[in-house]
Amino acid sequence: MEKVKILSQIENNVKVCQKCRLCKTAKNPVPGEGNINSKIIFIGEAPGQVEDETGRPFVGRAGKLLELLLKKIGYERKDIWIGNIIKHRPPENRDPLPDELAACEPYLALQLEAISPKLIVTLGRFSMSYFYPEGKISRDRGHVIKIKGFNIYPVYHPAAALRNPSMARDLQQDFMRIPEVLKNIESEEESVNFPKREESLDGQLVLGL
Ligand code: URA
Repeated sequence: MEKVKILSQIENNVKVCQKCRLCKTAKNPVPGEGNINSKIIFIGEAPGQVEDETGRPFVGRAGKLLELLLKKIGYERKDIWIGNIIKHRPPENRDPLPDELAACEPYLALQLEAISPKLIVTLGRFSMSYFYPEGKISRDRGHVIKIKGFNIYPVYHPAAALRNPSMARDLQQDFMRIPEVLKNIESEEESVNFPKREESLDGQLVLGL
C-alpha cells in the first residue's frame, strides 16, 4: 500500500479509537499532520487544550514557539511532520498513564514505519522515553541517539521552555544544530550505502571494505 493510504488508514483508526479512557474526555483526536515525505519529524507528548479543540498538533503557545524555532533553521511548519505519542488529550494536561501510553504506542510505531524519517526530534521527556526509556533529558538533550533503527535527537519540550528561560536557551541552541545533525546523518548513510570502489588488479571494480 502506498504511504499516503497507510497514513490515512492509521488516522482513521485513531479517529475511532476507544482503546483507553482518554477518548471519553477528549473533544477531538489529534493524529498528527504535515509533510509525510519530510526527512525530519517532531514528536511531542500529547495534545493540550487548543490541540484538543482543533484536532491539530502544536497549535497552542508551545506550537507558536515550535514554529518560531523551525523558522530559525529555515523550515516552515508545512515542510515537516508533527505528531504526538498520545493521540487524545489527557484531562487537565496531566501526564499520560502507563496503560494509555501502551494503548497508543502502535499508532506512532506505524506512522514512523510509513514515514521512515531520517531524524526524529523528540520534544520533552515522554517523547524521548518512547524510544529510549533509559534516557535522561537533561543529560541526553542535543545528542543524536541511534536506537531501534531510528536516529533520535532529544530536546526540551517547548512548553517547558516557555516556563523556564534557561531551558529556552538550551532548546534554541539544540534546534540551531538540527541542520548539521541531519547533514551528518545523511553523509554517514551515503558512506554506508555507497562503499568506496577500488580497481582490482585485473581491472574489475571491487567493493572496498
Ligand atoms: N504539547 C504536546 O506535547 N503536543 C502538542 O500537540 C501540543 C502541546
